[in-house]
Amino acid sequence: MNIQNVDSPITTQLFIRGETCDAHDGATYAIQNPARPDELVGYAAKGNAEDVDRAVTAANGAFPAWSALSYEARADLLMKIADTLVADEDDVGFRSRLFCREHGKIIKETLLEMTRLGDRFRQSAGYAARLAADENIAGPPFDTIVTRQARGVAALIVPWNWPLSILGAKLPQALIAGNTVVVKPSRNSALAPSLTLHKIAAMLPPGVVNVITGDASEIGDALVTHPLVRFVNFTGSVNVGKHVMKMAAENITPVTLELGGNDAAIICADAQLDAGAFMRMYMGAFMSSGQICMALKRLYVHRSRYDELIDGMTATCNKMVVGDGLLDETNMGPVNNARQLKVVTDMISQARQAGAEVHECGQVPDEELYQKGYFQKPTLVYNPDSQLDIVKEEQFGPALPIMPFDTDDEAIALANDSRFGLCSSVWTPDRDRAVALARRLEAGYTYLNAHGPAAQDGRGPFGGFKQSGIGRNLGYEGVIQFQGYHSISGPAGWLS
Ligand code: NAD
Repeated sequence: MNIQNVDSPITTQLFIRGETCDAHDGATYAIQNPARPDELVGYAAKGNAEDVDRAVTAANGAFPAWSALSYEARADLLMKIADTLVADEDDVGFRSRLFCREHGKIIKETLLEMTRLGDRFRQSAGYAARLAADENIAGPPFDTIVTRQARGVAALIVPWNWPLSILGAKLPQALIAGNTVVVKPSRNSALAPSLTLHKIAAMLPPGVVNVITGDASEIGDALVTHPLVRFVNFTGSVNVGKHVMKMAAENITPVTLELGGNDAAIICADAQLDAGAFMRMYMGAFMSSGQICMALKRLYVHRSRYDELIDGMTATCNKMVVGDGLLDETNMGPVNNARQLKVVTDMISQARQAGAEVHECGQVPDEELYQKGYFQKPTLVYNPDSQLDIVKEEQFGPALPIMPFDTDDEAIALANDSRFGLCSSVWTPDRDRAVALARRLEAGYTYLNAHGPAAQDGRGPFGGFKQSGIGRNLGYEGVIQFQGYHSISGPAGWLS
């Protein structure tokens, strides 16, 4: 198959008040393929502050009618959207290829993201009955109804790494809760997310879902500080998250921040280390070329199993084929952009210079492509110093440090010694030990004998401690964050 220019370049528009439209000044920007940086994938509309204002105003206008619908009516629409998203095979195929080419992730993963987005619409719809039930507190001295109401216009800000899954952790939740939204996808992955969002938006009353693409420097602050925006749900880096929180403070706009992570895995002395376990560790660390907030980023293994783990992980990583994600044989695509590639290769170089043993694993069928694209093979760094960036910072790329420990207490201390607190994992067949260790970890989510999105239960709330963020997405908690409490009281005997 000739996979270069498999589809012609496309141009995506904004979506405001029920219609696709160009940016106010007609501007667009180009998106290239990270596997083949000289290949144009398409153009996205480059919105500006005026477009933000149009989108927020449209969302605000749509809010009264949307929030007045019953939960059941909104849930019906969400279920229809979930079905429609995957109904047309050709369209799903086209959006998946586009996603693969603009992002770099392998085609199987683009399909997984598309499916997950629909599943999350279904899951959110499933909360309708629970959401409709108020709490009644009977007197004396008062009878009180504790209800919740939608916040209003929610700004949903999405990063490039898992844009559709992350959208699925905030968009259906915002909608079922009764909010209208303005979605801002990332500059680096805007085409497939825009087309997908347009499909969703077109199934809802005009103004309920609006979509703005462009440069964050032009539209980011304009969106976060817009006086009609009543809630900001942001997923991205710690630094931008801090900035968003400061900007939102201007109007006392509440925020949910899903930020970076530096997830530790603790492999206990009794861990089952077989081919399945190594594959789950590989997926935890290297899925999406390691560009996942909840990826395994520091692996701590009991010293008695260190050599065995190194051998198993090296052998597993060596089987992986690195190349263009459109090819079936590829297990790992490029990093999404040159800047992120530099972050991870700088960390690898620093570890090498400091004397750590570094193994670049995997197979590269097309060396010329590998040199041209933003590629980095799955890389294992053996026992680096704990002060090196590869251990302390979020690599967000295909490199994994592996370090030994001697006692469970030491493992917990090492895992918790981080400014991040997103996810973690414990690997042991002993259920009581696994849960006891998990409870001691400073993290919003702990996987047992697995790590990462493939092992995540979307019914549980997701988010971080410390600098990994504020608030929770997903689960019932991920829906009610989009609402505020409202107590209605009268004299005892009045309301009960
Ligand atoms: P980023 O912080 O650079 O950008 C995230 C989003 O914020 C993008 O849409 C970007 O355009 C936008 N943005 C930038 N400046 C803004 C501003 N002034 N106002 C409003 N929006 C602005 O992050 P990224 O590079 O796209 O994504 C990678 C980071 O995201 C990693 O640190 C990763 O860990 C984190 N992440 C966290 C989670 C989570 O759930 N905790 C999930 C995925 C990614």
